[in-house]
Amino acid sequence: MTPFAELGLAPELLQALRDVGYDAPSPIQEQAIPPLLAGFDVIGQAQTGSGKTAAFGLPMLQYVDPDEGDVQGLVLTPTRELCIQVTQALRAYGQRKGVDVVAVFGGAPIRSQQSQLRAGGQVVVGTVGRVKDLISRHSLMLHACRFVVLDEADEMLDLGFLEDVERILALTPSSRQTALFSATMPPEIRRLADQYLYDPVTVAVAADTLTVDTVEQFALEVAPRDKTDKLIEVLEAERPDQALMFVRTKIRCDQLYRKLRDRGMNVRALHGDMSQGARDGVMIAFKGGRVPLLVATDVAARGLDISGISHVINFDVPTSPDVYVHRVGRTGRVGRSGRAITFYEPRQRRDIQAIENHAGVKLSPWVKDAHVAPTAPMPKPRRHSKPHAATNGGGPARTVIISGGRAAGLEPSDIIHAITAATALDGEAVRNVRMLERFAFAEVPGSEAERVVSQTAGTQVHGHVLALELARN
Ligand code: AMP
Repeated sequence: MTPFAELGLAPELLQALRDVGYDAPSPIQEQAIPPLLAGFDVIGQAQTGSGKTAAFGLPMLQYVDPDEGDVQGLVLTPTRELCIQVTQALRAYGQRKGVDVVAVFGGAPIRSQQSQLRAGGQVVVGTVGRVKDLISRHSLMLHACRFVVLDEADEMLDLGFLEDVERILALTPSSRQTALFSATMPPEIRRLADQYLYDPVTVAVAADTLTVDTVEQFALEVAPRDKTDKLIEVLEAERPDQALMFVRTKIRCDQLYRKLRDRGMNVRALHGDMSQGARDGVMIAFKGGRVPLLVATDVAARGLDISGISHVINFDVPTSPDVYVHRVGRTGRVGRSGRAITFYEPRQRRDIQAIENHAGVKLSPWVKDAHVAPTAPMPKPRRHSKPHAATNGGGPARTVIISGGRAAGLEPSDIIHAITAATALDGEAVRNVRMLERFAFAEVPGSEAERVVSQTAGTQVHGHVLALELARN
């Protein structure tokens, strides 16, 4: 993997990346940053969760002059949620350089956005409608705008914004550099790219890299009337940090929300019939981690980026494989693992097959504790034998990442055996072993975590040498 420093980024941006804790570029960043820095137009086929914001944001910020008050970069987004998210990201990346990023979106007072623009922002992130509005009021001038990004262009198309997008593009200098990001490439988006991008470089990350590598995916057959009870069972067994639960309709969203709330759970609902203010309140509470459970419809959750989401639960089967990939993409963000559990009714078996074929994955049947390795009988500690309480250590559990997963022929019991043999920890101290293709995760007592990493590293299992590191919590 190429480190960020070799992509041609300026020192203050590299420093900002260290501040936000990114160790290495994601595939879309590795592919898109060099051509954008070299001045090419770029078509990026990538979804939320791929790291696309930094892929276009870093090159844009690199070319912005913070001493100039004019708007030099514009990012158009289809929704207000995405607008806010992109703004937050660009502010973080541009902080060291002192770039001012202004967000403009509907549903908020236009006056304060006008005064922010008057104060001079070099980068504007805006929803299509509000950008158009501000241009027509002469509050937003694009004559000096040399870098334009269309983010989630296919969503703009779906929401009927394409004509407005073209009008806005026509108001920017023809010498501008343009990047177009889209999860899918329908013909209308191709045409837009043909017309408004000059000799573009196309970069793509396959949708299945989004789901296969970092998300463990399960399916669970359940009769309609048992769904709520089953969901509660799943939540109790999985103990998610944060779970996003998808339902098909607004009414079902409210119903499920009430049922969970009435069972005393800390849960919120998010759907399109709620007022913008109520939706914002829910988003902030969930994003801030104050609420662990969120029931949402697809539209409401569009573009939602919450890095703490450990679980996506499809309470209602997705209406298409694309919707599945979109939903599951809410978890397992860059550098993290996630779990997705899809409920289906007996008559929906075919939907599951369609998803498996399309996403190129096999959904394992979900059974309680399937992922938790057996706790007894476990291999006995071989050396440094300590009393039980001491071996199990204290403090909150920490997650260790182990190189070597299913592809290396490893099973949860191998991981537990390797750790217990190397550290003399009791088998019960190693919990929640989760196997992915190339990695495994295990939880160990916080006070023992560093020792687990140092003593287990280098152990051979089935001829595979284990490397371990602590996950950032
Ligand atoms: P995006 O697809 O741009 O919405 O980014 C998805 C998530 O990944 C965001 O929470 C980013 O902060 C995070 N992210 C982006 N790039 C990286 C990276 N290179 N390393 C770690 N996390 C990243």
